[in-house]
Amino acid sequence: MFGAWIAYTLRRAGHTVTLFDPYGTAHSRASSGGESRIIRCCYGADEIYTRMAQRSLTLWTDFFAATKRPQLFQRTGVLWLTEPDDRHANASRLALRDAKIDFEDLSPAELRRRYPQINAPSHVGAILERNAGALMARQAVQAVVEEFVRIGGIHRQVALQPPQKERTATDILIYACGPWLGKLFPEILSSRLFLTRQEILFFGIPPGDARFQPPQLPVWLDFGTERGMYGFPDLETRGFKLASDRHGPPIDPDTADRLVSAGTAQQMRAYLAERFPALASAPVVDARVCQYENTSNGDFIIDRHPAYENVWLAGGGSGHGFKHGPAIAEYLTGVLSGGSAEQRFSLASKKTVQSRTVF
Ligand SMILES: Cc1cc2nc3c(=O)[nH]c(=O)nc-3n(C[C@H](O)[C@H](O)[C@H](O)COP(=O)(O)OP(=O)(O)OC[C@H]3O[C@@H](n4cnc5c(N)ncnc54)[C@H](O)[C@@H]3O)c2cc1C
Repeated sequence: MFGAWIAYTLRRAGHTVTLFDPYGTAHSRASSGGESRIIRCCYGADEIYTRMAQRSLTLWTDFFAATKRPQLFQRTGVLWLTEPDDRHANASRLALRDAKIDFEDLSPAELRRRYPQINAPSHVGAILERNAGALMARQAVQAVVEEFVRIGGIHRQVALQPPQKERTATDILIYACGPWLGKLFPEILSSRLFLTRQEILFFGIPPGDARFQPPQLPVWLDFGTERGMYGFPDLETRGFKLASDRHGPPIDPDTADRLVSAGTAQQMRAYLAERFPALASAPVVDARVCQYENTSNGDFIIDRHPAYENVWLAGGGSGHGFKHGPAIAEYLTGVLSGGSAEQRFSLASKKTVQSRTVF
C-alpha cells in the first residue's frame, strides 16, 4: 500500500515511475494483502494521525469515486468502546472536535440500546465515528496499482536490489518494502523494526441473522480488554472478522507458514462468548496470518537513507498504517519537492527497544 500510493501519487505529479515488487500486488505475504483494514480518526493525543487519517479518507473516497469503485470503502462507521476516565478516549474527543470530524459519544446505556448484539460491561460506552469504516484492502491496493499503470506507470514483478553507490543520482529510489525493510537494510533497520505474527479469524454468522452485518454492526475496537480486540461486521459475506491487536511472536515474512495456531480459535471463542454471545459457537469460516512491522513506538519511518542522497525509506506501518497510504504519499511527494519533514517520521527518532505509544 505504501509503495502503490507513493508510485501513483508521483506519477500523477508528472514523474516517470517504475514500481517493483517481487511477489506481485497485495500478495498473501504482504501486510497489505488482507481483506479489510479499518480507517478511523480516533488516535488519542496523536493528533498527527487524526489529521492524516482525515485527509486519507478524503483521498481514498475521491479515488474510489473517480475510478468507479465505491464499494472498496464501506462506510460502516467505527465504534471505539471506551471506559470512564479513559485517557485515549478523552484525547480523541478533543482531537476529533478540533478537526471537525463527525462523531457521537455513546453512553453505556445508549451503546447497549443501539447495539444489543454487543454484550459490553455496564460501565463501557463508545465513540462512534460515523463516516469512518473499512477499506477493502487487497482490492484497494490492486485498484491503485491498476490506475498507476493506466496513467503511464511501469510495474515490474522484480525485486529492487539494495542501492549501489554508482547508481545515477538522477534516479530516486524509494524502498517502501514494509516488513522486508529490515532484510534490505539490516545495518540501520533490523534493530528498529519488530515484525510480529498477527492471527485473524472469520466466524460464520447465524443463517438469516443481520445483526452482524452493516449497517446493524459497525467496525468496532475493544482495546480496554487484555487482548485488545477489534473486528469487522460480515463484509462481502466473508464472515465476522475478529483479531487481537496485541503483538504476537516474531515472524519472517518470506518463510512463515500462514496456518493459524491452535490456541487462537479457543481464545477468540472465549472472547466471543463474553462480548458477542450469539456467536459463541459460530464456526470458523476463514483464517489469516499477517505481520505487523512495528517501529519502537508505532510512528512511521519516512526518511532519507543516511548514506545515500537519492535513497528513501518508507515503512513501519506498525499495525495502523494502511489507512494512511494516500496521506503518506502526499507527504513524501511534498518532502521530495522541498517541503518540511516531520520529526516523528525520521529514522533518528526510532529506538531499538519496543515501547508502543500509538494506538
Ligand atoms: C492483521 C493486520 C491488521 C491490520 N489492521 C489495520 C487496520 O485496521 N488499519 C490500518 O490502517 N492498518 C492496519 N494494519 C497495518 C497495515 O496493514 C500496514 O501498515 C500496511 O499494510 C503496510 O503496508 P506496506 O506497503 O508498508 O507493506 P506491505 O503491504 O507488506 O508491502 C511491502 C511490499 O514490499 C515488497 N518488497 C519486498 N522486498 C522488495 C524489494 N526488494 N523490491 C521491491 N519490493 C519489495 C513486498 O513484496 C511487499 O509487497 C494491519 C496489519 C495487519 C498485519
